[in-house]
Amino acid sequence: MTRAAILTIGHELLIGQVIDTNAAWLAEELNRLGMIVAASLTVGDASGAIRWGVEQGQSCSEVLIVTGGLGPTRDDITRESVADYLGLPLQDSELALENVRARYASWGHRPPQDPGRLIQVPVGFEVLFNPVGTAPGLWYQDGGGRIIVLLPGVPAEMKAIWSAHVGPRLTALYGRSAIMHRTLRTVGLGETIIQQKLERVADGLPRSVQLAYLPAPNQVRLRITAHGNDAARQVARLEDDIRRVLGSCLYGVEKERLEEVVGAILREAGLTIAVAESCTGGRVLDRLTNVPGASDYIKGGIVAYSNEVKQRMLSVDPAILQTEGAVSEETARQMAAGIRSQLEADIGLSVTGIAGPGGGTATKPVGLVWIGYAASGRVEAHQRRFGQNRLLNKERCVMGVLDIVRLNLSDAGAHTGPA
Ligand code: ATP
Ligand code: MG
Repeated sequence: MTRAAILTIGHELLIGQVIDTNAAWLAEELNRLGMIVAASLTVGDASGAIRWGVEQGQSCSEVLIVTGGLGPTRDDITRESVADYLGLPLQDSELALENVRARYASWGHRPPQDPGRLIQVPVGFEVLFNPVGTAPGLWYQDGGGRIIVLLPGVPAEMKAIWSAHVGPRLTALYGRSAIMHRTLRTVGLGETIIQQKLERVADGLPRSVQLAYLPAPNQVRLRITAHGNDAARQVARLEDDIRRVLGSCLYGVEKERLEEVVGAILREAGLTIAVAESCTGGRVLDRLTNVPGASDYIKGGIVAYSNEVKQRMLSVDPAILQTEGAVSEETARQMAAGIRSQLEADIGLSVTGIAGPGGGTATKPVGLVWIGYAASGRVEAHQRRFGQNRLLNKERCVMGVLDIVRLNLSDAGAHTGPA
């Protein structure tokens, strides 16, 4: 199996100013090609650090992908540093100059008199035309067959050169070896509980199959990885086993989002929805409206944060707010029924809870949430208990609220009890 390494260059990555999305994107691409990513390193814009990074990357891989520091400015010193490390001189490249001219022409500008380091290329490197920027990618294969690819740091440029040149070249050189990934998405259960449930299934796995747990607020992604000629069958078999054990906790696969799944269910059923949100502050509707075409099933909603708004806009009984409180089963029920009738929707959804960090009591601790669901002839509320962190709780709530809709309307059905 071919081993690859990723080296991302830029001081901005080391101070946390820019998140290293290039490394994640490249890792996914390299994996798709069937390569093992042995290491992913980040260094600053300093010659010594870059040479060290290249040395480390090459020591554990046959293919090294480098991004960043290929621009025209003084802090962009990747090509010089890599040339220096390999002991290769730099020379001006006609093709790189053409790349600069083509780009300026496409913008309707005259190219700079002296494009400077943009057209300098270490001898022996091939120029990979950049279809969206001025700095070309650079490709090098040494006598031993090891490859170094230099790409610009700007994600759109990096991806464009990868897709036009690097991906196809690596596929031609190495083919696609048999490695398969499959991601299953769960909601409502923590990773510890999922792991316990899957203990028997995971124990019997052959060495060529791995199962990884990737938790996020109120959801866990399960990634199955299998190597070898039998990979597809192994993945399918493990997926079947997991589905049998986890059942309705599984809401989607790969990059599917819960709001997409819920949207598809609503569209299929021909139902409309309206949402009354307290502790989530509008986040449920934000997520639902991220899905294209959501206007087919979303009526709208109200952020009913204060008791006054809960009473006035949703007709929640003031006596209930007084005796039971805003975070209670009955308030959640009345909010759901209220928004359903106010907006004349088929389904009314509501959420009220104590997001924290303050506001908890002995009987109503931080993290307590009630989710209301009102449909024709039926109004119910479900309790959920989350953690202490306010923003994480809001996110967990959104998943919990969306999941109530899924569980009520899909075949997964009838499983709306506490997770
Ligand atoms: P340019 O021609 O724009 O100067 P460059 O190859 O020199 O390209 P950098 O200067 O290193 O690239 O980075 C340009 C911008 O691209 C950075 O400001 C940053 O916003 C983004 N960027 C760089 N590296 C990464 C990365 N690893 N992940 C995400 N974004 C990145
Ligand atoms: Mg830079």
